Amino acid sequence: MVSIEENVNLFPYNTFRVTSTARYLVRIRSISEIQELIHSEIFDRNKRLILGGGSNVLLVGYIFDGLVIKNMISGINIIRQSDTNVELKIGGGENWHALVMYCLDNDFGGIENLTLIPGTVGAAPVQNIGAYGVELKDVLLLVEAIELSTGKLRYFTRGECRFGYRESIFKNEWKDKYFISAVILKLSKGRHQLNTGYDSISKVLNEQNITVPTIQSVSEAVAKIRKSKLPNLDEVGSAGSFFKNPCIDRDKYHLMKLAHPTLPSFAHTTDSVTIPAAWLIELCRLKGKRLGNVGVYRNHALVLVNYFDGTGDEVLVLAADIHENVLRVFGISLIPEVNIIK
Ligand SMILES: Cc1cc2nc3c(=O)[nH]c(=O)nc-3n(C[C@H](O)[C@H](O)[C@H](O)COP(=O)(O)OP(=O)(O)OC[C@H]3O[C@@H](n4cnc5c(N)ncnc54)[C@H](O)[C@@H]3O)c2cc1C
Repeated sequence: MVSIEENVNLFPYNTFRVTSTARYLVRIRSISEIQELIHSEIFDRNKRLILGGGSNVLLVGYIFDGLVIKNMISGINIIRQSDTNVELKIGGGENWHALVMYCLDNDFGGIENLTLIPGTVGAAPVQNIGAYGVELKDVLLLVEAIELSTGKLRYFTRGECRFGYRESIFKNEWKDKYFISAVILKLSKGRHQLNTGYDSISKVLNEQNITVPTIQSVSEAVAKIRKSKLPNLDEVGSAGSFFKNPCIDRDKYHLMKLAHPTLPSFAHTTDSVTIPAAWLIELCRLKGKRLGNVGVYRNHALVLVNYFDGTGDEVLVLAADIHENVLRVFGISLIPEVNIIK
């Protein structure tokens, strides 16, 4: 029987570094362990939280009165390869950034732009992690998951996962219905199609006089940019971007652009335009704002930080204040990217 720990402080298990005690916690290291757990009484009787690296959750309240299921399934295996491609099956509990480093070491390309994203491989499909012009969906072949109501092993194609910007079916219709045990990625081998379209990446490459970039140099450029903008998680607590970048309709975008000619934008479609939430928050003069133990990070207005001893409730109060200000000034309702756990 898998061992169940009681009254576990989740402080080390969430990057916001808030203190919250889980009534029960179980560490899952294999598919048979999760299947065994699903058929147990403790699983039936309690509300549950699947936890990877805890880098995209905000724990609210001093107690999580339920069962935390910590994914620790490991393993990186090559399941197929040719001269130009490789298919990898990666256990859901593996660390995402360690996977990126493994790929660089083996000259496998496709996820170098996703360097230094915290968290586990199993959580990556949940919000279709993305950065610097690349998203998980660009390289994902299959998601392997266990259906929590039956214990059955299932495989989902990219189409079935309904990926969107920081979205997937696992964050919506199938929220809390599946435990992602592994992902299968298709990566390039030998010759790579690099994505250096982001201004900041090309700027770093130019500064370093790199005219023929490689997956390694792109990864290093991304790491350099991220370290300059994002907080060091050893110093402050954070879950990265707290809100999603809002997608607004074209008419509203044109009106805003008239009022604010410097308004940045990306991801234009025929009907909508995505604009940076950080820019909106900055214009509301909230960048660097501090509220007790928590605040808006001084180098990035979309990132909320816990300086020391802050609680999930304090972060929520700050988030509500930002939401209210942006709504009042721009008429835009920001949606949290972080999963709020009560
Ligand atoms: C400094 C910083 C920078 C960040 N930068 C980025 C970025 O550039 N791009 C980006 O997309 N994200 C970014 N994030 C957010 C975060 O790293 C990702 O969302 C990551 O995928 C979360 O992984 P995790 O294992 O920590 O998930 P957790 O926080 O543990 O869980 C997140 C959600 O997924 C669910 N979940 C976790 N594992 C599983 C599983 N195996 N099966 C089913 N559900 C599961 C959880 O229940 C929860 O709802 C950043 C976070 C931080 C702290």
